[in-house]
Amino acid sequence: MPAALLDGKKLAQVMQGEIAAGVRAFTEQRGIHPGLAAVLVGDDPASQIYVRGKRKACQQAGIDSWLHELPKDTTQGQLLELIARLNADPAVHGILVQLPLPRQIDERAVIQAVAPLKDIDGFGPENLGLLAAGYPRYLACTPHGVQQLLLRNGIPLEGAHVVIVGRSNIVGKPLALILMQKAPGANATVTVCHSRSRDLASLTRQADVVVAAIGQARFVKADMVRPGAVVVDVGINRLPDGKLAGDVDFEAVSQVASAITPVPGGVGPMTITMLLYNTLEAARLQV
Ligand code: NAP
Repeated sequence: MPAALLDGKKLAQVMQGEIAAGVRAFTEQRGIHPGLAAVLVGDDPASQIYVRGKRKACQQAGIDSWLHELPKDTTQGQLLELIARLNADPAVHGILVQLPLPRQIDERAVIQAVAPLKDIDGFGPENLGLLAAGYPRYLACTPHGVQQLLLRNGIPLEGAHVVIVGRSNIVGKPLALILMQKAPGANATVTVCHSRSRDLASLTRQADVVVAAIGQARFVKADMVRPGAVVVDVGINRLPDGKLAGDVDFEAVSQVASAITPVPGGVGPMTITMLLYNTLEAARLQV
């Protein structure tokens, strides 16, 4: 039987409605809107689309947003100067620096420059450290979206074995930390795999939930998934014909899995949703 679809687009609409209600209540109480400053360096078309999508969602939720577009030859000093200004601006509660950055800029220095209370991507060492220590502040948006997509579709994580393929600082690693929290909605047994993992398929086949965050189109095949397992596809890969594909071979794996996320329309819309969630949270913490 084909797998049930975990519809991120639909859930994102529901959750963005809930966040918009939270924003209205916040604005009524405090007399201001939560504000997000987006920083886009260069002219990468995919980044432009992502930032546009994030700003449109902000607008719909009642969150103010400002876009700072910088040319691709921007120096690290110029970018750090802008971040310092945004850090000091009380109307800005969250700062989003769209990655990747041009080669002349050290991503790590930029991530570390964002004030921890405004780090609504949750990428900075303070927010990652709080998560690792077990008292999280802002959760990174994509992994938080994955957790919500599972929970709100009634997929239990408590005691489940989740195998994550990918250990990046923005997806795999924070997702592992989120799902292993000693907390409701987590308490999973987590295995993290990467390019040096031996016999990957034997690891993914042990999973109740497989999460693919690899960056290689259709990498996860049907024989890597235990029949009945849940499969979450974080990947967004542009194929030569211009279409998008995830990291999972959707056609084949959906014949084996009990539930699966589509690409597009799965994790992507949830990432945007959790960014709005964090921006509202950031406004609450700073006002
Ligand atoms: P990344 O930084 O390139 O990390 C990829 C991870 O996959 C690395 O840990 C890498 O291992 C591992 N990997 C690569 N090839 C592998 C292989 N053959 N076997 C096992 N592991 C392998 O990528 P990312 O930033 O985490 O993004 C992953 C994917 O998610 C991309 O397609 C990206 O576009 C997408 N993404 C989607 C969203 C969304 O909102 N839906 C958000 C962020 C990212 P090593 O560590 O050993 O190199």
